[in-house]
Amino acid sequence: MKSKNIFLFLILFLNSIVNAKEIKIMISYLTPPNAIDFESKSFCKSNGMAIKKAKIKADAQKILITNEKIKEKKSKLDIKCNGMFTIKYSKKTRSYYGNLKISAQNSKLKMINSIELEKYLESVVSAEVYDIENYEAYKAQAVASRTYTLASIGRHKSNGFDLCDSTHCQLYNGYGKINRKAVKAVQETRGEILEYKGRPIWAFYHSICGGRTDKASDIWPDGGKDYLQPVTDGPLAKPYCRKAYGYRWRTKINYKKFEVFAQKKIFKTEIPLKGVKIISRTSSGRASFIEFYSTNYSKRISGSDFYHISGRYFGWDAIRSTLFSISINSKYIVFEGKGHGHGVGMCQHGADEMARLGYSYEQILKHYYSGVNLVRRKI
Ligand SMILES: [Zn+2]
Ligand SMILES: [Zn+2]
Repeated sequence: MKSKNIFLFLILFLNSIVNAKEIKIMISYLTPPNAIDFESKSFCKSNGMAIKKAKIKADAQKILITNEKIKEKKSKLDIKCNGMFTIKYSKKTRSYYGNLKISAQNSKLKMINSIELEKYLESVVSAEVYDIENYEAYKAQAVASRTYTLASIGRHKSNGFDLCDSTHCQLYNGYGKINRKAVKAVQETRGEILEYKGRPIWAFYHSICGGRTDKASDIWPDGGKDYLQPVTDGPLAKPYCRKAYGYRWRTKINYKKFEVFAQKKIFKTEIPLKGVKIISRTSSGRASFIEFYSTNYSKRISGSDFYHISGRYFGWDAIRSTLFSISINSKYIVFEGKGHGHGVGMCQHGADEMARLGYSYEQILKHYYSGVNLVRRKI
């Protein structure tokens, strides 16, 4: 009986090593490069061939790999390293662990990094907490990122990978700049996630809520998640995130410039812009619909669409949230607002202040996500 137990234990133990979850992330998803310089101080090989340093270039649907010893054309590369490797492209230097599969599509490199989920989180959390100070907030971020990752796996399944490396999924810049507190927070919360009705939640988070978070379904048409409810972020008149840099913002845009933006991106025709107004607001006061009008024509768009269209056009620091008011004079359109980001789920700067006040990461998470359970799962 005893030996049977030991045997069972061994099976479970080995299983947990073999099953450490690996995920596939596409590197440089938004702008796949044509060529990279690959370099590694660790031992790397691809399809039986050792590589230390090489130029890897996409040539139509093939890959050209060159260095002083090799000049070969291949249909794909499957690079396995026993340590860190670095790739350089378009003035970026990025370091990764795990494996790298490379193929070519229309002279662009498609690079897919396979990495253990917990190791992936060390990079993601490091990128997310660059302006956060208090340790319990790091742990809250680690659990939120782990949960969000599990919920979003499969988003890019049809393209052959699990997640992309942009903010569309979560920012993943490799291991060049790693934050020690972030790594510790990931390790100390290993396997911990938030569940609602037994499933990992969509643990959305953002930088600064501006006083109150928003209901997901008020921001996105398909966002109706019960656990993403509006939350007053701290005592009245004293929101937790109020001391964060950028809590209040004001952006003045030359009216002529804004009119060109409206013609190009909203009206899609060159008619004069007579005005812009907020038609309706969400329960937390964010602009839910905005109307752009000309003399005989008007166009309505959602606050969330405006946030994304204006962000891509004017830069993401111009209109920093949809919690704003608009005023117009003959020369300028002025947006006065609060907060940074979409406003759904955890407010990262609010979490930081809660941590400073002595709340635990579990209390922080349960403040922002309604009715969830914090559980530890074998991932
Ligand atoms: Zn994505
Ligand atoms: Zn907040």
